[in-house]
Parts: sequence; structure tokens; C-alpha cells
Amino acid sequence: MAGVDTVLTSERLDALRALLDGAQCVTIVAHARPDGDAMGSMLGLALLLEAQDKQVVRIAPTPVPAFLSGMAGSDKVIVASKQQYLAKKGIGESQLIVHVDHSAISRLDPYLADVVATSGKKKVAIDHHLAPSEEFDLLFSYPSSSSTCELLYELAVRLWGPECITAEVAHAIYLGLMTDTGSFSYSCSHGRTFEVAGQLVEAGADVSAIQNEVYRQYSKERLRMYGLALSEHMEFIADGRAAVIALGHDFLHEYNNQPGDTEGLVNEPLTVASVFISALVTEKKNGTVRISLRAKGNAIVNTLAERYFNGGGHPQASGGTLASTIEAARVRVVEVLEAAIANGECFLNS
Ligand code: 5GP
Ligand code: MN
Repeated sequence: MAGVDTVLTSERLDALRALLDGAQCVTIVAHARPDGDAMGSMLGLALLLEAQDKQVVRIAPTPVPAFLSGMAGSDKVIVASKQQYLAKKGIGESQLIVHVDHSAISRLDPYLADVVATSGKKKVAIDHHLAPSEEFDLLFSYPSSSSTCELLYELAVRLWGPECITAEVAHAIYLGLMTDTGSFSYSCSHGRTFEVAGQLVEAGADVSAIQNEVYRQYSKERLRMYGLALSEHMEFIADGRAAVIALGHDFLHEYNNQPGDTEGLVNEPLTVASVFISALVTEKKNGTVRISLRAKGNAIVNTLAERYFNGGGHPQASGGTLASTIEAARVRVVEVLEAAIANGECFLNS
């Protein structure tokens, strides 16, 4: 694969080796509201570094969803929003910070972003988002990769050889590949993704066990919430070409919403033939509203997330935040999507 070798150059790999040689303790940070790829790359890399006799500090800015809590090393994750002292101490004791699955320090949420930015530590990023920032001392950025986990696999076998991929490492990395590609249904436009998946299976990743762990461990309330969200809180707009689901805090609270419970909900409207943009709008306790956007076909949403919702992301999976009430946010999202569909702003080649 010429592609990935333009990212994993011998100069960059040597630079990483030198940084690791000088670090006895390494902190790995994932992005806020960590998903499968963020957790898979953080925990997979942690195991790889521990095998090299490094001490590793694992930090997530905000809580880890229950469906990702069974992964090896998940119990060691420091949640910075709840354990500020431990997060700061861990960073203070390490000589290197590795950022996985995010392309800017701001994706760490304000507290952790500030601790990292003012730490004076060297920073490495391993990521697949577009337009990475220049804040890192060493950057491995490969937007054509399905996932950060796929890039981590390529990096690990170059640094430490194929035998570094133990069954536990394969589990973590496969989980990230699987979740970021919707079980290999999108973001896998090059065959290499399937080769890597195959090698992970050979190394011990159990495909059906990981599917069950991630997609089949929810509560009864979560399934009821899902059904009601679709039947009572979803509207089709722009002649059925887009759909918006808006969920207020009271509704989410009634169904005992846990981090990660609404994961996947935003994809459901895209199962309708006419719908090519879907938005999920959820009210947070802190007075902000999260917006998740998904697209299919030739529709894209990252530019909308950047322009209108203080966010960003991948062309067909993006997110952002508004400081407003849930109703005002819903109205705004409907307005933005209707206008973008009418003026062609959200289409490729238009
Ligand atoms: P989700 O809808 O799952 O929260 O986010 C989908 C994707 O959009 C994430 O994987 C991430 O790449 C991106 N994303 C979500 N929220 C933000 C944000 O606030 N800022 C940026 N730059 N990207 C985001
Ligand atoms: Mn990712």
C-alpha cells in the first residue's frame, strides 16, 4: 500500500522510536465521548506499549460508554471530567502524550485540553480525520484509513513486527475497525481494510464475540427509548430527503439514558430510501445540545457541522454543539438542513 507508506515514512517512524526511547511513562488520550475507534486505539496502543515495558496512563476526557467498558484495560481508564486530579497527575508523570482518533487538542474538552496544552510534554497524534492541526510534535495522519485502529495496526507491525498483535491487541483494534466502518459497510473504500481485518482475525479477534459485546449489551429501557425516539420524536423534512430526531433531557432521563445509549440511533433514518441526511439532536445537562449528523450517497455533512454547529468530522459522519434549548436547536437544525438541501451546499459535485 503506497498510501499508508507516505504517512508511515522511515523518518517519522524513527522520530517515534526516538520519542518512545526517551519516555518511560506514556499518556494516551482519546477524544471526548469516546467511541469504539477511540477506545480501541487507546487500549490497543496501551497494550502494545506495556509489552515494550512502558508505563501507560490511559485518559478519556468524558465517561466511557458501557458497551466499551468490557475491553482489556478499560478499567484503568482515567475519566478526566470526573478524576481531574488523577488526569493531571498522570500527565505530569509521563514524558510523552499520544493523541488517538482526534486531530486537534480542542477535541479533549476544555479541562483536559488545557492540562495537555500547558503540560510542555511532547505530543504525537495518530489519526484519520481531515485537516489535522499543527499542535503536535509528530503527526501520523491518514484520512483515507477506515479508522485510527487500522492506521495503528499498520504502525505497530512496522515498529514491532506482526507478532506484537496478540489476541488482546487484535480484539481492541478489530473493535475500532468494526465500529468506525459500521461493520464494514462504509469508510472501507480500499481492500487493505479487509486484509487488516483478516490478519486481526488470524491473530485471535473473535468477530461474533466483538459484535455481541458492542451491539447487543444494552438495557431494556434503551430499546424502548430507541423505539419511541423513532415513532414520536423523528420528523422528515425537505420532502423526505432528511430526517431530524430531537430528544430533550426529560425524555432521555425517563429512559435512564447512559453514555452511548443513543449511539447508532442517528443511522436509522438513513435506512429510508429517500433520506440522505440524518440529524440527531440531544440535550445535555450543561445547557448545551449535541448534534450528530450522518449522510449517504453524494451528500456530505462535515461542512455543515463546521459552518453551523461549531464542530466537524468526516464527510458522512460529523458532529457539533450548540448552546441553546433543545427546541431552538431542533428548529435551527431543520432550517440549516432545508436550506443546504435547497441550495446544494451538502452535495458533492454540485
Ligand atoms: P458523533 O455523531 O458520533 O458524535 O460524531 C461523529 C464524528 O464526528 C466523530 O467521529 C468525529 O469525527 C466528529 N465529531 C463529532 N463531534 C465533533 C466536534 O465537536 N468537533 C469536531 N471537529 N468533530 C466532531
Ligand atoms: Mn475514528
